[in-house]
Parts: sequence; structure tokens; C-alpha cells
Amino acid sequence: MACKHTNFGASVKVARLEDTGRFMAEVRVKCEDCGEPFQFLGLEAGLDMQGARVSLDGLEALLSIAPNSQVMSPLLRLAAAARGAQ
Ligand SMILES: [Zn+2]
Repeated sequence: MACKHTNFGASVKVARLEDTGRFMAEVRVKCEDCGEPFQFLGLEAGLDMQGARVSLDGLEALLSIAPNSQVMSPLLRLAAAARGAQ
């Protein structure tokens, strides 16, 4: 009988890239019952230090991250854009 994939395991590795000092979260998800890995959908393959990409096999999401104090939150960016538009 085919697995219905109802139990999940996930792993996140965080890497600090020595050359740039930037940070990357590497996320994987798999079914705990049958072991099948999940692909991440809707992301381009490759690497983007300002955004999100996926590995060539689709199984590892590569998410650019930064310490909270070093970047504006989406809310603050919206507020700044609104002020600039006035
Ligand atoms: Zn499964």
C-alpha cells in the first residue's frame, strides 16, 4: 500500500559563509514513515544571498537569513516605503 505521508521529519542546518559573512538556512523535509524526501516547489534552483532558492534536486531549500538587528522587518520596510511615497 502506498504511503499516505502523514508523519514528517525536518532538518535545518545554518551555515555562515566565511567569504561574505552572510548566513544561509538549509532546510530538508522527509516522510518519517517511508523515508521519501519532499521537494520544495516554486523556488528557482541556485543560490541567492538576498532571497530563497532550491538545490538542483529540489530537496533542499536554501534560505538567506540575517540577524534580526541587522535588517528591517517586512513591516518596517512597508512603513518606510509608505513614508517615501508621501
Ligand atoms: Zn511516506
